[in-house]
Amino acid sequence: MVLGGRWGAAGARWSAARLASVVPAGKKTLPATSLRTGYGHPSGVHKLAIGNSSCANLPAMVDIISSLSSQTKQHLSDKVSQFTESVIREMTRQAALYGAVNLAQGFPDFPAPAEIKQAARAAIEDDVNQYAITWGAKSLRNAIARQMGVWQRIAVDPEKEITVCCGSTEAMISTLLAVCNTGDEVVIFEPFYENYGPDSVLSGARPRFVKLRPPAVDGGEWTFDEKELRAAFDKHTRAIIVNTPNNPTGKVFTRAELELIRDLCVEFDVLAITDEIYEHILYDGTAHISMASLEGMQERTVTINGMSKTYSVTGWRVGWAVGPEKITNAIRKVHDFLTVGAPAPLQEAGAAALSLPAEYYAKLAEGYRVRRDRLIPALEGAGFKCFRPRGAYYVMTDISGFGFDDDVSFVKHLVKDVGVAAVPGSSFYRDARDGARQLRFAFCKRAETLDAAAEKLEKLGKR
Ligand code: PLP
Repeated sequence: MVLGGRWGAAGARWSAARLASVVPAGKKTLPATSLRTGYGHPSGVHKLAIGNSSCANLPAMVDIISSLSSQTKQHLSDKVSQFTESVIREMTRQAALYGAVNLAQGFPDFPAPAEIKQAARAAIEDDVNQYAITWGAKSLRNAIARQMGVWQRIAVDPEKEITVCCGSTEAMISTLLAVCNTGDEVVIFEPFYENYGPDSVLSGARPRFVKLRPPAVDGGEWTFDEKELRAAFDKHTRAIIVNTPNNPTGKVFTRAELELIRDLCVEFDVLAITDEIYEHILYDGTAHISMASLEGMQERTVTINGMSKTYSVTGWRVGWAVGPEKITNAIRKVHDFLTVGAPAPLQEAGAAALSLPAEYYAKLAEGYRVRRDRLIPALEGAGFKCFRPRGAYYVMTDISGFGFDDDVSFVKHLVKDVGVAAVPGSSFYRDARDGARQLRFAFCKRAETLDAAAEKLEKLGKR
């Protein structure tokens, strides 16, 4: 398969070190899938185990090899060997293991709005306990359509153009499964939110990566090269994924950039799949522009969004995909057979959430601006170079000043010895080397959490 080997680069390097620590030399081991994290390609693990057997045991070795390879053949798909478990989610487990402050995974550690928790309780009290309509409770679909009109002036038919899913994560994979055939290509800007790589593989598509380059000057913007983007489009291109505001860079795509992408989509007859989950988390006067609001794009855009980030309920698992009727029908079929539906009472709470007044969103963004401006000086004081985000709630940093071999060895030191968990930059790139000098911190945390991290990070400067 096309991505074999390359795709798992970040996880494989991470896993090689992890394996060395969990598999004593000379000991036979279980296939990778039985290990704690299951990182890396199973064949790599077999080599590790078998390489220490003696030649006198050749027949036994042959048996082991054939039984292991037939296990692999019979029980594991080729697709799944092309990517590793999420490094972001693994870092949360590492944080728990070492009792570190978790600035790795993007979930808030503060309460969700009281009104929406009350709405969820009321829905359960009212016995909204059974399957909702597969493509989403009417109340939530109506609220989504109404707010897309208010926020982006996009007219949406809630009966025909919305699919409510188990988080925007499911909305993305359902969309890709609904629109991609094997061999199709999907253009993805990198660094990228790590799910998009495995999502493409699972849907049979090949990712075509286009670089976002870090700001050349302090306070500058991440940019892409127009020619490079054009070169990624050809007759195989089925879709482009645009995540704005962007994780991990904090980039907010400008109207001019979106129009450029629009023109390529029209020229090559390509779909835009936009991940707008950080729509309301914006700083420094930037504005969010939905691709579907651009002339000529509503009929070729699937807009993905959800409750997780806007309402601080990442564990509720409610998201949605909004697109033209024909594509929505296909997404609804995939969604139905993947999950049947999203949690019914929480969809009712979603309708209440989308009815919160405009001040809620202003306060949300301002709260995150304060957190950003609390964390960045702490990181800079400790020796990180920070790329100031314009949106979302992450800060990408350059770690060149610390003199570590790479991001993974540095992140391990950080979580084990310093007590702060972050995400290695390599997990956002196809080629681990591109992220070897970067680390991502999440600041969707209480002031106390950020201060605790800042206190620990002070140790770094004193190495
Ligand atoms: N998309 C992006 C860009 C994200 O950063 C995340 C979570 O970190 C998600 C999607 C996941 O969203 P959900 O919780 O709705 O599945």
